[in-house]
Amino acid sequence: MATVIDGKAFAVGLRKKIAESVSSLVNEHGIKPALAVVLVGEDPASQVYVRNKGKQTVEAGMDSIEHKLSIDTSEEEVLSLVNELNNDPRINGILVQLPLPKQIDESKVINAISVEKDVDGFHIENVGKLSIGEESLVPCTPAGCIMLLKDHFGSLSGKSAVVVGRSNIVGKPVSMLLLKESCTVTITHSRTQDLPGVCSQADILIAAVGVPEMVKGDWVKPGAVIIDVGINRISTEEGKTKLVGDVDFKGAMEVAGAVTPVPGGVGPMTIACLLRNTVIAACRQHNLDVPEAIKTF
Ligand code: NDP
Repeated sequence: MATVIDGKAFAVGLRKKIAESVSSLVNEHGIKPALAVVLVGEDPASQVYVRNKGKQTVEAGMDSIEHKLSIDTSEEEVLSLVNELNNDPRINGILVQLPLPKQIDESKVINAISVEKDVDGFHIENVGKLSIGEESLVPCTPAGCIMLLKDHFGSLSGKSAVVVGRSNIVGKPVSMLLLKESCTVTITHSRTQDLPGVCSQADILIAAVGVPEMVKGDWVKPGAVIIDVGINRISTEEGKTKLVGDVDFKGAMEVAGAVTPVPGGVGPMTIACLLRNTVIAACRQHNLDVPEAIKTF
């Protein structure tokens, strides 16, 4: 049986290191990092995410500033708020919760965020920097995946990694990070031929698809490490609902070396990495070194 990678416990440890780093910034430099989150509309899932982000930001000793705007807010109003936050020296990180209502061009808003404050790492300049291996703010979920892998393996150099999914939020950035760690990376998607065969070559298999339990145990190379990014709510036979990943967890556990569970794997790492990015952004904005404890890569 495979080992279960406990992302929840790892995230608790990371958040503790972040809180210690924040405490040093406050006590030694008088800097209290602040994260501004913009939520447009009342999407229930987004509301939960924003609430959790705010709670964990404050628990880590930072300031959390929430801007909740109505669903009919115009693109100009959002851009004007982003501009205000860009120019506010008390704000170190800005996150605009996605998805945005249809009247607002997401990429226009993302690219209006100051590159130095783009803690989601979605600004085109941060994406470009990641692609050419320059220092940047790295998207949170992919960063969380790499941290769990490095904790498991130490070095990832030379490993064969297969990523299922090529989204801008997960698939592409996690592939860039794996490449930076000197993995041999294969990116797969809905048009990939013989996906099971490709997956079965992987020492590291990352699933970011959004299809419940798609990756089966017999797609997995014996001993492989599987990072399941998927979060899917499905109905059970008892008429309830439950969360499952993109990997058939039971089947994978019989073949793999280690697997992240859903929930409790990658999910908790995402907010922890957002907090980490906020501290990194605050340090860089004040020309301070990023604390060793949260550097990782
Ligand atoms: P997207 O829908 O943006 O991308 C899905 C990708 O999967 C696409 O590249 C698509 O291919 C590919 N795909 C879809 N169906 C298949 C298939 N049958 N075979 C092979 N590839 C397929 O999703 P995201 O990347 O945003 O999210 C993926 C999952 O991760 C979701 O379950 C989401 O909820 C979860 N997630 C979890 C986070 C966390 O914090 N843990 C954060 C972000 C996402 P193509 O490009 O060809 O269409």
